[in-house]
Amino acid sequence: MAAILPPAMLGILGGGQLGRMFATAAKTMGYRVTVLDPDADAPAAAFADVHLCAPYNDQEALHMLASTCAAVTTEFENVNADAMRWLAGHTRVSPSGDAVAVAQNRILEKSWINKAGLPTAPFLALETVEDLHVDLSNYLPGIMKTARLGYDGKGQVRVSTPEETRSAYANLGGQACVLEKMLDLKLEVSAIVARTTNAQEACFPVAENCHENGILDVSIVPARIEPELAHRVQQMALQLANALDYVGVLAVEFFVLEDDSVVVNEIAPRPHNSGHYTIDACVTSQFEQQVRTMCGLLPGKTDLLSPVVMVNLLGDVWREDGGEPNWAVLCEAPNAKLHLYGKKAARPGRKMGHFTVLSAKVDDALEQAEALKDTL
Ligand code: ADP
Ligand code: MG
Repeated sequence: MAAILPPAMLGILGGGQLGRMFATAAKTMGYRVTVLDPDADAPAAAFADVHLCAPYNDQEALHMLASTCAAVTTEFENVNADAMRWLAGHTRVSPSGDAVAVAQNRILEKSWINKAGLPTAPFLALETVEDLHVDLSNYLPGIMKTARLGYDGKGQVRVSTPEETRSAYANLGGQACVLEKMLDLKLEVSAIVARTTNAQEACFPVAENCHENGILDVSIVPARIEPELAHRVQQMALQLANALDYVGVLAVEFFVLEDDSVVVNEIAPRPHNSGHYTIDACVTSQFEQQVRTMCGLLPGKTDLLSPVVMVNLLGDVWREDGGEPNWAVLCEAPNAKLHLYGKKAARPGRKMGHFTVLSAKVDDALEQAEALKDTL
């Protein structure tokens, strides 16, 4: 297939911060961008040439995308697998609706990961309450997660006994869930792959991720792990992308256990919060990879230009009265980069922005990043 070149129009389903950073990358390269998002204040709208302000399944808006965009992608996994499948009949779409559907459902997702030959935490698929009538001891203590629509630790309950497990299932409304064994984590890491239709692929350096209340807090790159382990993680991410015959940007989250064995936690069919560091610290950003893969260009080089630490800025950092954090010290720091997403309301837990700190030594970057966060 011929490459799609600037100034072609590229479409994206979803106009959150990931759509905003995608639009920035696309427009920098001279492409035009159409965003579909029902929110009039969607963060990506300010950077788009066209904002279709309509629901994700709006027929008119989808026809508009199909007829005006040379290629279409997505920035989030929920609600749009069918829209992606429909669009694929009219224009180039990546990732495929099928790949998106796998990531939408934890049962399908974990089954796919195992089918690709990769381990997950032991899990029990719960489609109905009957599925709880088995010996649960292999999965306890564990975490009950809704199969659908969970993110940032939402839709999860920790359970230790069969009784707790049954009431957690009922409290989640009896919907499909997975019961997953709680593992002793040494650390969490992620790897992001870009892959094209003819299987050209590139994997970014491995990020070490620290979570706070189930939400990503800090990513440290390179991850402070042995090169052999980092290589193994990247190979696993590539293996998964190949098994899914994936086209686009695929993020893979991993758990590293005490014995340095690695299991896959989950996948995201799009750029990922833990890959935001690539904007400031890599030859190619994850968002440029999204542009490149959807346009049929080769993936760009993923080399790390400098050790880097990324810190998420949640709404909690804003003042109670909605007043801005004190940006002065952060903005003055010569090796820090501030990224704000232009969201109006700062609610606790809401991702409002992030910043990165680049330094020759990763430990120095981490120390500075923590000190800068304290000044806000
Ligand atoms: P989300 O879709 O909300 O990101 P995850 O499945 O990634 O959900 O879980 C969020 C976080 O909860 C993980 O990053 C990890 O810190 C913790 N967690 C999830 N599953 C397990 C597990 N089986 N064992 C230990 N910790 C877990
Ligand atoms: Mg996760």
